[in-house]
Amino acid sequence: MRTDIYRRAQILLVGLMALALFAMPLTTLAQTKISYHSNRYSPSDDVKAGQQAAREVEQKMPIMRDEEVEAYVTRVGNRLVEAIPPEFQHPEFRYYFRVVNASDINAFALPGGPMYVNRGMIEAARNEGEMAGVMAHELSHVALRHGTAQATKAQKYSILAGVAGIAGAILGGPALGQVGQGVVGTYFLKFSREYETEADILGAQIMARAGYDPHDLANIFKTIERQGGGGGGFFSDHPSPANRYERINQEAAMLRVENPIRESAEFTRVQQILRGQGRAPSMSDIARSGQRYPNQGGSSNDYPVSDRVGYPSTRYRSYNGGNLFTLRYPDNWREVGDSSNSIWFTPEGAYGQVQGQSVFTHGVNVGIAQAQYNNLRQATDAFINSLGQGNGNLRQRGSYQRGTIDGRNALAISLSNVNEATGRPEIVTVYTTMLRNGQLFYYIAVAPQNDYNSFQGAFRNVLNSINLND
Ligand SMILES: [Zn+2]
Repeated sequence: MRTDIYRRAQILLVGLMALALFAMPLTTLAQTKISYHSNRYSPSDDVKAGQQAAREVEQKMPIMRDEEVEAYVTRVGNRLVEAIPPEFQHPEFRYYFRVVNASDINAFALPGGPMYVNRGMIEAARNEGEMAGVMAHELSHVALRHGTAQATKAQKYSILAGVAGIAGAILGGPALGQVGQGVVGTYFLKFSREYETEADILGAQIMARAGYDPHDLANIFKTIERQGGGGGGFFSDHPSPANRYERINQEAAMLRVENPIRESAEFTRVQQILRGQGRAPSMSDIARSGQRYPNQGGSSNDYPVSDRVGYPSTRYRSYNGGNLFTLRYPDNWREVGDSSNSIWFTPEGAYGQVQGQSVFTHGVNVGIAQAQYNNLRQATDAFINSLGQGNGNLRQRGSYQRGTIDGRNALAISLSNVNEATGRPEIVTVYTTMLRNGQLFYYIAVAPQNDYNSFQGAFRNVLNSINLND
């Protein structure tokens, strides 16, 4: 079942831009001096290699196309770029920032400027400072030209033609190295401990110069640890997070920032947007799917739904839909906001993205539609028609039945569909009733045909729990 993606109103927080203008340059005590490694390439070689790699990365990874999210990450990124010390600025470099729809807490950057921040990192960060810390670390690899310095050390000029060895993730290779056996995999060669330490130190200095608390760069390692660290050998072959935490804090002690930026309303809002977008795939999911994302500039944040969806829990939790309605749903389902007028209650793995639109395989969708008619039958006909426009395979399985929602007259109809994401036949049950203001309240339950029996009880319980408060 497909529904329209939520188009969010753009909110410009002018206040934050003003804040950036007043970000104080730090008072220097005795910060660690970092210098370039020998490099046989020119800065424009970095740019060329990075651009080539970026093209491939954007075909292999689901880039999010949410304007508000991208604009926000770009504003934070630009604030950091301006704070790169003059000796590490390169006029040739073009920094830009993209959000990858991946759950892993990570980020990486390519030579000459392209940076990719995982959605999971933004969702996990406890504040804007922590997110900025990861980005400052990545920017430092770029500014220090670590990719081409590493290629120089490898004594292989040809390596640049293959644009290898040029990206560094905040936590190094393992998580990103899983991405594909192909070209992208080779980007994520690990940097040496020395390079990582340099990026941590310069990252802390950039943080302070941009008006952030450099301790927040250290704190992200605690946040990652708390979230389970991404599993197994995540930290292997790298300076241990504990050492990095201490070294960054040591540097931070030498940097002073007055009133550092930590919280921001924009950060909170962007986290809410991302958390409302359903499950992000992990990097290894993305690698396994072997999917390509050819529509650069279009909607290309597709990801597959899972083929394993758990049975509904028999425990229920409450949902309060503003002043309009309440209901109860199984406590192993999640609320997925679909638009300001529609919400899904759906098990893990039962939703994904196809061509920028949300697709659900199992769950209940409840919402309010503008009705062109004040007659329930006509309003429902129009509503079913509108559903058909987004779901070409939707067919009625019979005629309308009488039903009730919270004791009110309702119409019920069963439809069949073929799910856009899985190609599996599914059953869609729709209930509608009129609200007192003339709008149409709807309840839609959907499950694959061969799972429907297992979900029917839960669907009925959700329907019976609805209280309308209009
Ligand atoms: Zn790094």
